[in-house]
Amino acid sequence: MSKVPPDQRAAELRALLLQASHDYYILDRPSLSDAEYDRAFRELQAIEREHPALRTPDSPTMRVGAEPASALAKHTHLVPMISLGNAFTEVELSEWESRIARLVGDDAQRAGYVTELKIDGTAVSLTYENGVFTTGTTRGNGIVGEDVTANLRTLRDIPLRLRGDDVPPLLEIRGEVYLPFSLFEKLNEERVAAGEPVFANPRNSAAGSLRQLDPANSAKRPLRFFGYTVALPPGAVVPFETQWQLLDTLARWGIPVAPNRQRCATMAEVHEWARDVEQRLRAELDFAIDGGVIKVDSLRLQDELGVVGGREPRWAIARKFAPDIAETKLLDIQVNVGRTGSLNPFAVLEPVEIGGTTVKLATLHNFDLIRSKDLRVGDVVQVKRAGDVIPQIIGPVPEKRDPNDMPKVTRIPTKCPSCGTPVERDEEEVAIYCPNVLCPDRQLEAIVHFASRGAMDIRGLSYARIEQLIAAGFVHDVADLYDLTSEQLTSLERFADKSADNLIDAITASKQQPLSRVLFGLGIRHVGQTAAQLLARHFGNMEVLSKATAEDILALRGIGETIAVALVAFFHDPSAATLVTKLAAHGLTLSEPVSVAVGGAFKGMTFVVTGTLPTLSRGDATALIESQGGRVTSGVSKATSAVVVGEEAGSKLEKAKTLGIETIDEAELLRRAGPA
Ligand code: NAD
Repeated sequence: MSKVPPDQRAAELRALLLQASHDYYILDRPSLSDAEYDRAFRELQAIEREHPALRTPDSPTMRVGAEPASALAKHTHLVPMISLGNAFTEVELSEWESRIARLVGDDAQRAGYVTELKIDGTAVSLTYENGVFTTGTTRGNGIVGEDVTANLRTLRDIPLRLRGDDVPPLLEIRGEVYLPFSLFEKLNEERVAAGEPVFANPRNSAAGSLRQLDPANSAKRPLRFFGYTVALPPGAVVPFETQWQLLDTLARWGIPVAPNRQRCATMAEVHEWARDVEQRLRAELDFAIDGGVIKVDSLRLQDELGVVGGREPRWAIARKFAPDIAETKLLDIQVNVGRTGSLNPFAVLEPVEIGGTTVKLATLHNFDLIRSKDLRVGDVVQVKRAGDVIPQIIGPVPEKRDPNDMPKVTRIPTKCPSCGTPVERDEEEVAIYCPNVLCPDRQLEAIVHFASRGAMDIRGLSYARIEQLIAAGFVHDVADLYDLTSEQLTSLERFADKSADNLIDAITASKQQPLSRVLFGLGIRHVGQTAAQLLARHFGNMEVLSKATAEDILALRGIGETIAVALVAFFHDPSAATLVTKLAAHGLTLSEPVSVAVGGAFKGMTFVVTGTLPTLSRGDATALIESQGGRVTSGVSKATSAVVVGEEAGSKLEKAKTLGIETIDEAELLRRAGPA
């Protein structure tokens, strides 16, 4: 808490929040992040609670939204459109329940609660007269909104006439206009192509689109709508008794209602619902939510509980989630050189909390992306983290650049940061490459890949250990691993005798791996596990394969020109040829039983493998399926015979369920494959 006197602090906060509200609601260009706004708002509420004399009528804690902008016609709402109180934790939510109990006893509990997704869009009100859509408005300051009827008419989600014979003669349907993520990304891509600035987030682009003066412009933006309540004139007959019935009725009248609503008998159920939405569902939705809304189900009780301060209903509360978008500083753009030589940029960030974890690094994919987003070291950037996905940078916040200390435009490297060799750019790909096969960073990644589970599967040879071995000068390439001695290993830090022996044993054991594993482990560009298996089974040994021409290789089903060209180039490279000779001299198995796949338990079947299987790696599972005549593809479609599901399976499992495709686990796959 600040040390400035409370009156001064309250004035500061009011000024900050009023400015932020204007930027957010009127300009659709937030100057604070939501978390920063919410923090300042709560601090002001706390000061006003402690010092009621400091509460001013124009305080943001007493108002909803911002004054409507002047260019659009005004509309007075039938009943004010209010905001919601917030609960940021389960404890705060339970406190809300206690506050209600003090007013209406345990009636609210007995009536139960309805939980709904809190759509992070922009609030609108739709007036229907005799079932016909006549006026659509924004929330504005809650009393008066802006007339955006023409724009709302362009939303295909909003019925121009309601269905059913129980529609009251006059009503306002309240809900949220939003832009789905998929369409938001497409819209931004189009804006990049047209040289226009990208939108910061779906909420701002939805709000901005809606308030466009020319409806033709908002028609170009694919906005959607979800309804969640109605307002009726005083004395009107209310055609439902509960919030749940209200939502059902809206859906029956033809209004889209958000999915995943639930009726909860207890607060424990509410907590459970909110946890599931935050931890699982949120990452799967195609639209932004910033929490859940908990409402007392009985409309009679809602009436009795009423509104506090003209701003927040007592009968509903928002359970806000930790934001999954945060702002932080881009401290550096660093480059990691992959095993194929590709230069992979990543962002080093000032640590920031997103959705409960601290994010310090984010992927940047490639330099074209850095350029199209105009990311600069020193920028304030928006970072997004959804589910377990690697954090991504949405873009910089250019307004936060200091004009006196402008960050410099990011330059694309011309030399490899590891070995200094001039980089090359593949015509067809966006990535840039270090062409030096002996580049130390490439070698490190190459050895890591060689030792990995899908390749030679050398247990105990971790990333850190490989770094140690390279630093000590014991290994320069993958073949050197087979020269290592226990004495060399124990001379290194953190290597006990036992672990040194175990590692030597694991390295020796890997000599038994068949040709397909070695081929994949060599990290030849474009040669993945499947291609390596096809090649090994067809050519039988390294000697024959190394002499094959591009035509010989192309004759194989499933192998295209890119792979054929890459393979021929690899075997023509003298350093690669030396490496293969060294591996052969160490006694590696450079052969594979030639396949005579006739029949097989999976003949003609197509599988998709998703999630982490208990014992088989992806490569093992693929090999097993292929050994029985089946095929493995990456996407689930109607042609998929079955999906093999492991732990933490995501969208592919969902898709399989939607399409009614059979799902099996590893044990079932092994059973169906039959004895080895
Ligand atoms: P709010 O967004 O926290 O919650 C109230 C609104 O939620 C309602 O008015 C309604 O539009 C919406 N809502 C979505 N789903 C709903 C459902 N199922 N049932 C009922 N309502 C639902 O409150 P607000 O007054 O709209 O805005 C305040 C919030 O906006 C702040 O907490 C902050 O996150 C953000 N804000 C940010 C800035 C900024 O500078 N970044 C400025 C102003 C406001």
